[in-house]
Amino acid sequence: MAAVASLHSERGLLSTLDLLAEDIHEPQQVRRNLQAYMDMVDAAAAVDKAGRPTLSLKPSSYTLSPLHEGGDAAGSQQAMWQIIEKAMAHDVDVSVDMESRHWTDFTLAALQRFHSDGARNVGCVLQTRLYRTEQDLLALPEGIRVRLVIGIYQEPSDVALTEKAEMKARMLTCAETLLRRGHYVEFATHDVHCVRQFLEEVVPRVGVGPDRYEVQMLYGVPRDRFLVDLLRQGIKCRLYVPFALGWDLAIEYLRRRLDEYPAMMWLVTKNMFFRR
Ligand SMILES: Cc1cc2nc3c(=O)[nH]c(=O)nc-3n(C[C@H](O)[C@H](O)[C@H](O)COP(=O)(O)OP(=O)(O)OC[C@H]3O[C@@H](n4cnc5c(N)ncnc54)[C@H](O)[C@@H]3O)c2cc1C
Repeated sequence: MAAVASLHSERGLLSTLDLLAEDIHEPQQVRRNLQAYMDMVDAAAAVDKAGRPTLSLKPSSYTLSPLHEGGDAAGSQQAMWQIIEKAMAHDVDVSVDMESRHWTDFTLAALQRFHSDGARNVGCVLQTRLYRTEQDLLALPEGIRVRLVIGIYQEPSDVALTEKAEMKARMLTCAETLLRRGHYVEFATHDVHCVRQFLEEVVPRVGVGPDRYEVQMLYGVPRDRFLVDLLRQGIKCRLYVPFALGWDLAIEYLRRRLDEYPAMMWLVTKNMFFRR
């Protein structure tokens, strides 16, 4: 919460808070994750509305039966609803992160359900690498907030694009469709060229104001000068701020991400030397 407060007061940046809580094996981990999010709702609600963080959560954090291991995600939807309902009562917005392709149907169906049960504080994530995304966005609940990303999970070529350039091009076309359909778009990428294309080509073409979109990046990826520039133009910028309840959980998370995506080590090293 100290990081969230200083991002806003010193740099004008908004945040979304995320508990690193995957790889669940014990019922007590599910309870711990749920309790942590309940506490995060209280902490977020205590912050002035102008700088109030949103919360991002992952469905797999609340089940011992994850879909990517062939399970049925038992209990996950109910746990998410508990958090979303409390957040709604405290005027806190929540985004449901999108996990691997095994979770897409489940997550979109859960979001439909939350929305039809009255949750207007909930937002979703679409991954432009998946072929299905162009259809999925046509079936979203009306007006739901959408974070657009290329997707972090390496998916097979029968379900997903494998070339980054194509995923980025798809971010722009999907963003345009979403804006035209009345959605609030959270354009989440560190690719400054792609962000510029969104802001300088897509937004003027659709003709919407800065109340209809924001730019999102991960906390710690050095894009300071670029973000300052956007803020000066009156564009809302939000950082995704992940944290863990202990160093062991944080290190386990980082190790897993590196296993899934070894190129990350190169990105991190490169960022240490080339700051923008
Ligand atoms: C706010 C936010 C929320 C996200 N939520 C989800 C989600 O719910 N589901 C999902 O599947 N994916 C999510 N992602 C990840 C996203 O899908 C991409 O995998 C990730 O952003 C990298 O792609 P890129 O568009 O930034 O472009 P890239 O071409 O991969 O990166 C552009 C440049 O940014 C830098 N960079 C990118 N990522 C990192 C990093 N992690 N560390 C250091 N430098 C980096 C590198 O310098 C790289 O050259 C999220 C990303 C952001 C920013």
